[in-house]
Amino acid sequence: MHKTRFLILGAGPAGLTFANRLLDAGITDFLVLEKETEAGGLCRDTIVDGAPLDVGGGHFLDVRNETVDDYLFRFMPREEWDLFERDSRIRFAGQEIFHPFEANIWQLPQDMQQAYLDSIAAAGCNTGEPMPEKFIDWITWKLGERIAADYMLPYNRKMFADDLDMLGTYWLDKLPNVSFEDTLRSCREKHAYGKQPGHAQFFYPKKYGYGELWRRMAARLGDRILYETPVESFDIRERTVRSGADVFCADCVVTTVPWTSVGELAGFSSETAAALPRLRHSSVEIRYAPDDLHTKAHWIYFPDDAIPYHRILVRSNFCAGSRGYWMETRSERVRYTNDNPHFMNDYAYPLNTIDKPGVMQNILRETHESGVYPLGRWGEHMHYNSDVTVDRAMRLAQELLR
Ligand SMILES: Cc1cc2nc3c(=O)[nH]c(=O)nc-3n(C[C@H](O)[C@H](O)[C@H](O)COP(=O)(O)OP(=O)(O)OC[C@H]3O[C@@H](n4cnc5c(N)ncnc54)[C@H](O)[C@@H]3O)c2cc1C
Repeated sequence: MHKTRFLILGAGPAGLTFANRLLDAGITDFLVLEKETEAGGLCRDTIVDGAPLDVGGGHFLDVRNETVDDYLFRFMPREEWDLFERDSRIRFAGQEIFHPFEANIWQLPQDMQQAYLDSIAAAGCNTGEPMPEKFIDWITWKLGERIAADYMLPYNRKMFADDLDMLGTYWLDKLPNVSFEDTLRSCREKHAYGKQPGHAQFFYPKKYGYGELWRRMAARLGDRILYETPVESFDIRERTVRSGADVFCADCVVTTVPWTSVGELAGFSSETAAALPRLRHSSVEIRYAPDDLHTKAHWIYFPDDAIPYHRILVRSNFCAGSRGYWMETRSERVRYTNDNPHFMNDYAYPLNTIDKPGVMQNILRETHESGVYPLGRWGEHMHYNSDVTVDRAMRLAQELLR
């Protein structure tokens, strides 16, 4: 039995940040358990065809949270990063238009502009309909039937799941409504309106892939990270974890691993234990192609159902000295015959199913009562980006050390 003050499950950005904050506070009595041979989680990279490739999909550091970025710059100083203005596009109707779709309808042929303006004019959010509770209905409510059918539904099916019926809308209410007047003005004046939705500006390492940042954070933790140590069973009441023949017990457990990846969970009420398998996720395969594309885009979305992948990352446009691009494909859609370098991420996107908030509320209540703290994309089952995960880890460390 290994006894520690803090036990951290998972060495992705969440676990690495939490552990580094312990070291910052002078605490050394902790262990991190990681199933892989390397830290970094979804943010890892590897060298493919002479340059870094993000094995968990395209990863960029957002510029908006200065506290987080300043902390991360301690490990990889600002001068080691390039700053980019986002250039993301959608391959649609045989051409490339800028993202987001509704702000760039003006780039389409005139008959399409007319059809999509009609779609927005008739959308429920513009005719005073109440916001629906299902994501699939929300899409039509937000953008109208035609944009839903031609772009939003096929794209979201490709990325998340064939069955969008299970997704809720509680995660979407902060998005502004799509204004008919703004769209019309944009078509008349021939320019986009509004702001980029996220990553309007972003950092990417000059000489490395995104994984280098997390490798450096892991290096500081030394042998406090135990690699190839998957969490196989976890008793939340006893704060005890088993991996192979090893048993770990701690005063406080911070868990960042997917709940459904742990073989045996004990200590939950029967109601919560029965609900846990209802936490759903989707997977993504990353596959490299060496061809050089003639585009300035950093990445391009593909709503066309006939194409297996939903996004490509044109790495030569953000990763110095590289060539080629990579495709991101939900695992169920993978049907490639080539054997190009490829990487499967079983846990990529936590799905915002209608009943997820209720399931997570019970998990959080019962774990907190036991001195167990779920954290990050999988601990909290939230669609967090890495900067948000780091922010949450810094806050949790501050709260627990107070
Ligand atoms: C395609 C894609 C693109 C993205 N793009 C961006 C982006 O541009 N910018 C951005 O900031 N964020 C992006 N994200 C989100 C980013 O990946 C996450 O925010 C971040 O990785 C979350 O960190 P985490 O530590 O919570 O989870 P993870 O990174 O998933 O880390 C979890 C860790 O737990 C380990 N683990 C899992 N199960 C077990 C087990 N049973 N036992 C032991 N260890 C286990 C894993 O190996 C992993 O190391 C993207 C995500 C995806 C899928």
